[in-house]
Amino acid sequence: MSVFDAAMRQLAASDLSVDPAVFERLKRAQRIVDVEFPVQMDNGITQFFHGYRVQWNNAIGPYKGGMRFHPQVDVDEVKALSFWMTLKCALVNIPFGGGKGGVKIDPKTLSRDELERLTRSFTRAISDVIGPERDVPAPDVNTTPQIMDWMSDEYSKIVGFPTPAVVTGKSIAHGGSEGRSTATGMGAYIVFKAFRSHLGMDPETATITVQGFGNAGQEIARLFYHHGYAVVAVSDSHGALHNENGLDIPALIEIKKKTGRLSAPVSTREISNESLLRIPCGVFVPSALEGVIMPEVAEEIEAKVILEVANGPTTPEADSILQKRGVVVIPDILANAGGVTVSYLEWEQNRINEHWEEHEVMTRMEAIMRDAAQAVLDMAKKHTITFRQAAFHIAVERLAAAIAKQYV
Ligand code: GLU
Repeated sequence: MSVFDAAMRQLAASDLSVDPAVFERLKRAQRIVDVEFPVQMDNGITQFFHGYRVQWNNAIGPYKGGMRFHPQVDVDEVKALSFWMTLKCALVNIPFGGGKGGVKIDPKTLSRDELERLTRSFTRAISDVIGPERDVPAPDVNTTPQIMDWMSDEYSKIVGFPTPAVVTGKSIAHGGSEGRSTATGMGAYIVFKAFRSHLGMDPETATITVQGFGNAGQEIARLFYHHGYAVVAVSDSHGALHNENGLDIPALIEIKKKTGRLSAPVSTREISNESLLRIPCGVFVPSALEGVIMPEVAEEIEAKVILEVANGPTTPEADSILQKRGVVVIPDILANAGGVTVSYLEWEQNRINEHWEEHEVMTRMEAIMRDAAQAVLDMAKKHTITFRQAAFHIAVERLAAAIAKQYV
């Protein structure tokens, strides 16, 4: 089953009673932009690359969502991701629709100059469909504040005046917000805290496993470690590490920063990425790509809770198995919404030409995330449904109200 089919299965499984016309709208993108753009490589040869921007829905506000640079990017994946962005923004109640983009490339194979030329050429190729009031890209897998700075600079050159609000996740020096780089991990921790009494978890007993050690994975691992939890296993695309007494997360973050990959300090066991999924733990935190929790994994996983920091990590069949086995899933559109929430705050600051202190950004994001988490807890309790179904209900109700207005 493709990622997009999985996303549509989730929508169907949410058991929603909305106007069929609204439902039909939510099953379709409003616009799919597919570009092939040229990049001059360091050896002087021009190569073409394939990029996408999918604008799923803008009934609530401008399309919003990241840009992914990854060899696995294709239109099916970007459609699913833009659909999830639409629900995510509606769920946390920020004035954005949903979109997503990507380029099919492994950025690790490019020099810094090639990466800059690729980013600028891609920005030119999609420049007429983005804009602060139209569609606002942001970082995602393998895209960084530096890449966002290049996008914002290229777009500003095209329109002829500085337009930082065209993308979020920029560096602080170029109009980025305090707290944006750690926002996804931070948001996930805030959501976990809001669910904690319901889950009956505390640092003395709950152990943590984190799959994926990019921006979000590192931050959520660091936060759990900082709050006294034993983070017993982490992985990146190169391999996994395990220590049942808890890993030294700050040391691993340093190693990853210096060498670009995880490697084992003393008293740490290297294990396969496959076996990481089966380590007994309190909370399993997928923080990499979609579709990693498949039925076989769901049957065997020995976690009590899954905190979905990645987008779409659990397939629909796996979801039903987890539900039967009593494994609690805190769904992606809630758990990872901290990133887009601080993106919204960055966009706000850019539009009114302000730069808020970190404390102010964090206070606002915490309030937004706590409200959303509470709404999901209440909805799930009221209707005896899963947290994913509850999150979909809240999001779709808000979208339905906005979409209905467009049909008049
Ligand atoms: N890529 C992030 C996500 O999937 C952030 C999107 C944004 O900030 O617009 O939620």
